[in-house]
Amino acid sequence: MTMPVCRFVVSACLAGEVQKYLARGMYEEAMRSAQRYEGIFVTACPEGLACLPVPRPPCEIREGRVLSQDGRDLTEDFFRGARLAMEIARKHGCTAAILKRRSPSCGVGRIYDGTFSRTLCPGDGLWARMLREAGFALYTEEHLPEDI
Ligand code: SF4
Repeated sequence: MTMPVCRFVVSACLAGEVQKYLARGMYEEAMRSAQRYEGIFVTACPEGLACLPVPRPPCEIREGRVLSQDGRDLTEDFFRGARLAMEIARKHGCTAAILKRRSPSCGVGRIYDGTFSRTLCPGDGLWARMLREAGFALYTEEHLPEDI
């Protein structure tokens, strides 16, 4: 089955916020019908796709590994989820992503430093890094694209 082409893949936990943003601007009219969003964005949650539990302990990246605050190494789970989220983005023909900031999966440009002390450092979450390397334009809920 052919998937509808969407410009944006969006962190699933942000979808409601992005919809609100769209509703404020040029897509106010489209807000009257959820179906109008077809072809604009599709959502994905890499950690959900990896079947990580909800709720789950905080996780941060340290020296290339994804560690949970309770001491587990979840790197392989996070990579599996990121790869599945990439598949969704590619299947839908997305070229840009709007991602949840600071997350070890979705964070763009700045993430927590692995010390669980709320300290930020330069870097991307695992999925964000895959998207960046694949040439996607990256945005966050703080820096939304101006032309949607
Ligand atoms: Fe899922 Fe976390 Fe990314 Fe939100 S920030 S979409 S919960 S992986």
